[in-house]
Amino acid sequence: MANRYDIAIAGGGLSGSLIALMLADRRPDLSIALVEAGPAIGGNHVWSFFATDIAEENRTLVEGLAAARWNGGYDVRFPAYRRTLSTPYRSIPSENLAEAVAKALPAGAIHTGRAVTALDPEGIDMADGSRIEAGGVIDARGLTREMLADLDGGWQKFAGVMLRLATPHKITRPIVMDATVQQKDGYRFVYVLPFSADEVFVEDTYYSDTRSLDAETLFARIDDYAQGRGWTVVEKTRKETGVLPVVTGGDFARFRSHGVSGVAKAGVRAGLFQPLTSYSMPDAVRLASAIADADAHDSASLAALTEAHAAAHWRTGGFYRMLARMLFGAAQGRDRYKVLQRFYALDEALVERFYAGNSTLFDKLRVLAGKPPVPVLKAASVLAGFGAPGPLRGKK
Ligand SMILES: Cc1cc2nc3c(=O)[nH]c(=O)nc-3n(C[C@H](O)[C@H](O)[C@H](O)COP(=O)(O)OP(=O)(O)OC[C@H]3O[C@@H](n4cnc5c(N)ncnc54)[C@H](O)[C@@H]3O)c2cc1C
Repeated sequence: MANRYDIAIAGGGLSGSLIALMLADRRPDLSIALVEAGPAIGGNHVWSFFATDIAEENRTLVEGLAAARWNGGYDVRFPAYRRTLSTPYRSIPSENLAEAVAKALPAGAIHTGRAVTALDPEGIDMADGSRIEAGGVIDARGLTREMLADLDGGWQKFAGVMLRLATPHKITRPIVMDATVQQKDGYRFVYVLPFSADEVFVEDTYYSDTRSLDAETLFARIDDYAQGRGWTVVEKTRKETGVLPVVTGGDFARFRSHGVSGVAKAGVRAGLFQPLTSYSMPDAVRLASAIADADAHDSASLAALTEAHAAAHWRTGGFYRMLARMLFGAAQGRDRYKVLQRFYALDEALVERFYAGNSTLFDKLRVLAGKPPVPVLKAASVLAGFGAPGPLRGKK
């Protein structure tokens, strides 16, 4: 039957697409349908990550999606020092993800511009009244405001622009954090990716207590940054904005209770993101790999697998949530950069494991040892749960 598949995935964003790609690669015997409400698979994003975030066995697939590969490491800049770290960095634009999905799945299995209105363990209903039946259903439709209301924390918000310049910028590697810029609204830094000799992606980012994003002001600051570097901008080829949760705590059981019982959740909808950076690429790859390698792909088995995966992720995320509490609860907005300034001075392998969400016990002790960059008493009281940031719900 044309409308019956082994697996149906609701949401063709990063996580849903990676699951589809991983399954097509490792389980070509299974038929897969991918349903996306937006006009294109992946939407309009550039996803970046450290090459070491991705386990060896998953690298071939993920590396194949990258449009930019910087093997010469990356820079961080703080008021007290500048440092070059050697970890390779990668970027995947959504167009590459969409192209890979189009190659991996039969045309009729990719449903763009079709909103899912309901799903259950046997299938997916769409806004046009049609239904896809499947043995296994996966919900990868991203986060909702209702889900966020069960988490505590603050926000990482940003606006980014791809600039084409009149002359080469001569930047050879990414600047993952340039915190030498004027500090505003919590912790501010600029992120710079040199895509080609005359093309550079510049993002103005804030670790903020408030959710509201004044995109025009941020875009104007990017213009100022470009001007400050003496660049003449010929064209702006891509713009994106984001407001991502930085999670300090919350009621994970309630967060998990959203959605349909017996249907697997994936991606940020499953809580699978790094609490402090809000990046989800490493977790999305890990889950896609686990799903592709699973013995059974019926809804009940997939729901059990993803539930266990998400619960383990929340447990290991405790350390990152604690650091987020330090950042938001113990440091005054203007002093927040000191937490990151101290962190980036640590051992490079520790920084790598941190981004991949693989910090060891020793790493955690190392991050916490020594002279804290925030007032000791304030830090202690925040860690004990006093004065920590409240729920994300209702924060403007
Ligand atoms: C601008 C931006 C930049 C980011 N950059 C990075 C980065 O560089 N590195 C990184 O690791 N993380 C990054 N993140 C964070 C995170 O990784 C992304 O948000 C990532 O896209 C989350 O993946 P996901 O698949 O869980 O959700 P999404 O990618 O948001 O996918 C959910 C999909 O479901 C679709 N959908 C929703 N409702 C329905 C429905 N009813 N029916 C059908 N489809 C539906 C949406 O249209 C969407 O395509 C970024 C986030 C943003 C917003």
